Amino acid sequence: MPNRPARIAVIGAGPAGFYATGHLLDAEAAIEVDLFDRLPTPWGLVRAGVAPDHPKIKAVSKVFEKIAAKPGFRMFGNIEIGRDISHTQLLEHYDAIIYAYGAQTDRRMDIPGEDLVGSIPATAFVAWYNGHPDFYNLDPDLQVDRAVVIGNGNVAVDVARMLVLAPEELAPTDTGDHAIEQFAKSTINDVVIAGRRGPLQAAYTNPELLELGELQIADVIIDPAEAALDALSQADFAEASQPDQRNVETVLAYAQRSRTTKPRTVTMRYLLSPLEIRGDGRVEEIVMVRNRLERTDDGSIRSVATDQTETIPCGLVLRSVGYRGLPVEGVSFDEKRCVIPHAEGRALDAAGQPVPGVYCTGWIKRGPSGVIGTNKKDAFETAGALLEDLAAGRLHDPLSPTIKAIDALVSDHRPEAIEYGHWQSIDAHERALGDPHGRPRIKLCSWDELLAKR
Ligand SMILES: Cc1cc2nc3c(=O)[nH]c(=O)nc-3n(C[C@H](O)[C@H](O)[C@H](O)COP(=O)(O)OP(=O)(O)OC[C@H]3O[C@@H](n4cnc5c(N)ncnc54)[C@H](O)[C@@H]3O)c2cc1C
Repeated sequence: MPNRPARIAVIGAGPAGFYATGHLLDAEAAIEVDLFDRLPTPWGLVRAGVAPDHPKIKAVSKVFEKIAAKPGFRMFGNIEIGRDISHTQLLEHYDAIIYAYGAQTDRRMDIPGEDLVGSIPATAFVAWYNGHPDFYNLDPDLQVDRAVVIGNGNVAVDVARMLVLAPEELAPTDTGDHAIEQFAKSTINDVVIAGRRGPLQAAYTNPELLELGELQIADVIIDPAEAALDALSQADFAEASQPDQRNVETVLAYAQRSRTTKPRTVTMRYLLSPLEIRGDGRVEEIVMVRNRLERTDDGSIRSVATDQTETIPCGLVLRSVGYRGLPVEGVSFDEKRCVIPHAEGRALDAAGQPVPGVYCTGWIKRGPSGVIGTNKKDAFETAGALLEDLAAGRLHDPLSPTIKAIDALVSDHRPEAIEYGHWQSIDAHERALGDPHGRPRIKLCSWDELLAKR
């Protein structure tokens, strides 16, 4: 152990990065943490992913603020590791690096028409309404009759719900003002959510599904024939988890509901996979194939295409088939799973051996699943492994681990970098803007606005 605090770089100021930082700063050992993020704003998907009409969930940011107030904490925003500063440069200055940079892009469906105007990954759409500066100019056309959301997870349900919220439901949220304006002009009256498997296999959670049934201006519609379980799902029902059983019961109850006078609908469809998106220069319809379910050798249930197809007219397709992690040059990467290979958070090289001083946590460690709290346990495992290695003298040995050298690295390679104080002034400004309107904040959503607060 060197005769100075151990200096740790954490890459990504989302939940995983913050929880790992908090665990390190709470440890008995002398540790200082520099938390890097490519955005000028921290909190990762808590700010840029979680639906704005779920303010209680976003309030977890208070925990992160407490972590940021601990001695030994610094944040550098507006620095992208791998672009502005390399992994090798970090290794020259830090005893250890924890990668916690999440899953930044979308998975592709690889079908014809996927890139037509009006076919948008949910990753981008979610980031747009949440005011992520990279997506400020996305400008999705909501003046269409129907949107089709492909996917059956919570993100699919979030985007469908956002599309049918009443203006009064959106008004008290921190949805970006540019998005509120577009939602107000929306002419979408039907949002179809299409899942490739049945109601028992859907990935959304029950509270999200229940919310769809309580929307102010939209009915949830399910064809009773599609809500009914196929023979395999019926056989599995009794052994299924309670949440999965509740989902099926909710779907069956929705299927019994009659249409009210609410002007919009959310239509939930099952056993459908997209084959092709068609249109003359922009989305006009989506061709879906009907699936049947089959049990695989490992006992799980998969969907298999039949020869029945169906065409759904629509002007917008939101592809919610998963987030995908990206590699950082010099850091080992599992191309198939799109994660950093690891053992208890210790990054592994191609030979499966731990790389001294390199760790990972969060979505770039596990893949894009799990709620915010899942990252806490995960980050504690990683930070715990790091602390064990620190105590055993197994960390990496950096050439220039001084604050002066690190500050020079940052100012030489990214003079536009910002510190935590800058974020605090953005935060105070946004809250002050929101306060008179009863909103948690009015977000600054463009790079120019965010960096002007420096
Ligand atoms: C649309 C959506 C809604 C969700 N809703 C909920 C919910 O309601 N409740 C719930 O509990 N969970 C929800 N989740 C899940 C939750 O957001 C995730 O579990 C969690 O954010 C993952 O944390 P993370 O730190 O691994 O990644 P992230 O939150 O993505 O944080 C990663 C951070 O790394 C930064 N970064 C990326 N690349 C670099 C780089 N090269 N250099 C520097 N910084 C970089 C990013 O800017 C980001 O700030 C939702 C997720 C999504 C996508």
